[in-house]
Amino acid sequence: MRVTVRVPAKINVVLRVGPPRADGFHDLATVFHAVSLFDDVTADDVADGTGVRLTLDGPYARGLAADESNLAVRAAHALASAAGVAADVRLRVHKSIPVAAGLAGGSADAAGVLLACNRLWGLHWPVPRLTEVAATLGSDVPFSVLGGTALGTGRGERLEPVRVGGELHWVLAVADGELSTPEVYRRLDEIRADAGPPELPSGVVAAMERADAPAVAASMANDMEAAALSLRPSLRSTLDAGRAAGALAGIVSGSGPTCVFLAPDGPGAAALAQVLSASAPCRTTEVVTGPAVPTVHVAS
Ligand code: ATP
Repeated sequence: MRVTVRVPAKINVVLRVGPPRADGFHDLATVFHAVSLFDDVTADDVADGTGVRLTLDGPYARGLAADESNLAVRAAHALASAAGVAADVRLRVHKSIPVAAGLAGGSADAAGVLLACNRLWGLHWPVPRLTEVAATLGSDVPFSVLGGTALGTGRGERLEPVRVGGELHWVLAVADGELSTPEVYRRLDEIRADAGPPELPSGVVAAMERADAPAVAASMANDMEAAALSLRPSLRSTLDAGRAAGALAGIVSGSGPTCVFLAPDGPGAAALAQVLSASAPCRTTEVVTGPAVPTVHVAS
């Protein structure tokens, strides 16, 4: 049997970050939104006692370890151990989501493996049971299992789905190089005097439900942006270029360095991407829509 899962990248339409907790994590209030930039995870049944084997290919596979440090491998072990089954599977990840870019690509791969092995191993666990395992792998992994749009609290693992009544059009400006999420959190704690409990702006949920792009744009904000800009000052030019080119709003995505811009519609997003490609100091642009969800395909 072969199971293939297309699993989307995420952006944070709003990301509010509280002060560091005693356990070192930060409480968040966020609006997660999955967008149509996908990694493809393929899981083949081997059942021969050879364990978890991973191969990586695609535009962003270079430099990524395929060993036990890879979140895809860790996800297979975590699910096998929670379900009490042998962790035998051959995995392939086709990486189209940039790495360490604030788009939760590693979390997407982990989620893809959970969804794939859930079918491959005949577990048929419901999503809430899968998200429990997902939370042990990383703060963004539960949302990556769900996709769509959701409010996230706690470390981001407590989720409340939001039903979006339309399509939003986004442009991702992918920067050269990576930003380490823990490093961006450390810088945030250094540059911010004191932070209150994280709260979402009122109206953002209603704006998302209506897929009302101008209203969503008015709510977009990221507490990590100042820290990402302090580590990577050139992102300021990218944000300025997008706003000057007609984006309704532009923010750093998650811990960066990707910047994300909301466009009024599809043609507006295409035009914005063209201007950004020519004028902003970014590696590439991606025109995407949201919300997107993981899709599972089974072939015997
Ligand atoms: P976050 O979800 O923390 O915001 P991010 O989107 O910025 O993360 P990822 O692409 O998820 O970044 O990668 C973060 C780190 O995780 C990378 O530095 C990488 O070494 C490690 N990693 C492990 N497995 C994977 C994977 N399958 N894909 C990408 N990165 C992985």
